[in-house]
Amino acid sequence: MSDWTFPKGDLMKGKRGLVMGVANDRSIAWGISQQLAAQGADIAFTYQGEALERRVRPLIESIGMTTMISADVTNDAEMDTAFAQLKDKFGAIDFLVHAIAFAGKEELQGSFVANTTREGFRRAMDISVYSFVDAAKRASAMMPDGGSIVTLTYLGAERVIPAYNVMGVAKAGLEAATRYAARDLGKQGIRVNAISAGPMRTLAMAGIRGGKQLMTTGREWSFLKEDTSMEGVAGCALYLLSPLGQSITGEVVHVDAGMHVMGIPETPEGGSAA
Ligand code: NAP
Repeated sequence: MSDWTFPKGDLMKGKRGLVMGVANDRSIAWGISQQLAAQGADIAFTYQGEALERRVRPLIESIGMTTMISADVTNDAEMDTAFAQLKDKFGAIDFLVHAIAFAGKEELQGSFVANTTREGFRRAMDISVYSFVDAAKRASAMMPDGGSIVTLTYLGAERVIPAYNVMGVAKAGLEAATRYAARDLGKQGIRVNAISAGPMRTLAMAGIRGGKQLMTTGREWSFLKEDTSMEGVAGCALYLLSPLGQSITGEVVHVDAGMHVMGIPETPEGGSAA
């Protein structure tokens, strides 16, 4: 079991919401869920497939939650049923966490131009970007008193990260979608933001060729000379999802120990390695 610690309190007391994207106890969505639960939130979870249900149920029960809803985000009928079940259970919600992305292994290596197929591109965009738009539409219809939506992105949206390829293009789309959704949903008092997390050791990271090196580089390039912590990412999610984040919308907040600010690598003597 993961060994993170999260501050306890009442910031999310009386708040209900949906978390999409817990695959195991290393998932970013799981860290965020633990932090939200430690602050009193009531959370429903979506999962994809029976195997995942078996893996995730003990996790959510360990934080006192029970509601698990099946939802493959590529399937409209499943999404209809999932949100109908959520409405039955909670009536209204206050927050949504979208932590879902996918691209084929063959796309996450080598040349972006050579390896991106029409089908691979479509699938990456569908699962990693459209699912956010779709979930935001459905969740916002259940937020009569306003709310807050958070999605997860990565620096590959802004800069070229070798092997991240089509996922970088998808994340650029996701960040733009965050801004457009923030504009539309602002009128309903709903804030929409993205967290750009530094490299973290999760299942999704394992699918990227050279993922281990991404972790090392992330640490070396960071100002704090450390890995991105789950506590930091979950803390930022809590801030954005709770009243602490009021007036913040349409933002991409970097939680990466300062890595994204660095222009070029440093030599061991502290000079520029270029
Ligand atoms: P993760 O634990 O593997 O989570 C990814 C989730 O996406 C899994 O729960 C996965 O479920 C789900 N998913 C994929 N296809 C789906 C579909 N068709 N329907 C429903 N769910 C689907 O990895 P993670 O790193 O925590 O990723 C969460 C988010 O953080 C992603 O958006 C990722 O791009 C982003 N992020 C990660 C990092 C990092 O370094 N790890 C950094 C920045 C941003 P299945 O396992 O069933 O496919």
